[in-house]
Amino acid sequence: MKIAVDGPAGAGKSTISKEVAKKLGIIYIDTGAMYRAIGLAAVRHGIDTADAEGVKSILGEVEVSISHEGGVQQIFLNGENVSEEIRLPEISVAASNVATIPEVRLKLVELQRRLAASCDVIMDGRDIGTYVLPDAELKIFLTASVEERAKRRLRELLEKGVDTDFESVRADMEYRDKNDSGREFAPLKAAEDSIILDNTSLTAEESAEEICRLAHDRGEVAQK
Ligand code: C5P
Repeated sequence: MKIAVDGPAGAGKSTISKEVAKKLGIIYIDTGAMYRAIGLAAVRHGIDTADAEGVKSILGEVEVSISHEGGVQQIFLNGENVSEEIRLPEISVAASNVATIPEVRLKLVELQRRLAASCDVIMDGRDIGTYVLPDAELKIFLTASVEERAKRRLRELLEKGVDTDFESVRADMEYRDKNDSGREFAPLKAAEDSIILDNTSLTAEESAEEICRLAHDRGEVAQK
């Protein structure tokens, strides 16, 4: 079974998808981490990530790969594990900028489809149900109010020791939402056959249970 989970930043996609993967015994693939890895590569090269030509000039030397350790996805940039570094707020914005470049997307979509071809997955991102896995058996569009999403993201960043505040997290989030929904190639939008799950007042556990129930209804997975 393939489960596609799309939605704006901070909707809880990765926390919830990880939990669903554990419950259903399938593999979780975080595609945002891949865009973040390319954003990080551009930042390390001193390239302005809004400069598409500059970003394209390094694409040939950027290799992104993933592995799973104890069920947790690790992301590698040219063989270096960058799973921690890609979570910095400046890399969120860099990722959103490089994600508007079709050449970047095509490179990563190829990797994403290859990964999904070999096993049962729950994959999260912005264009999974609409573009990467249009035949996914279950498509979820996960969303929540911008205040709630910014609150969740702020909590996450503070727990990691990142020095930030509510207003800058909210501003980054609104910038990314606009960038992700407004881009021409594979923008963020709910697939016509997706189920919209607004989890503003649900816990991550409740959202995960709801997705497992929906997956179960499709009758193709056995819950663990
Ligand atoms: O999901 P996450 O917030 O880690 O993603 C970082 C950025 O990568 C997003 O803001 C978005 O611009 C981009 N992205 C995308 N398509 C995906 C996954 C992420 O454009 N499938």
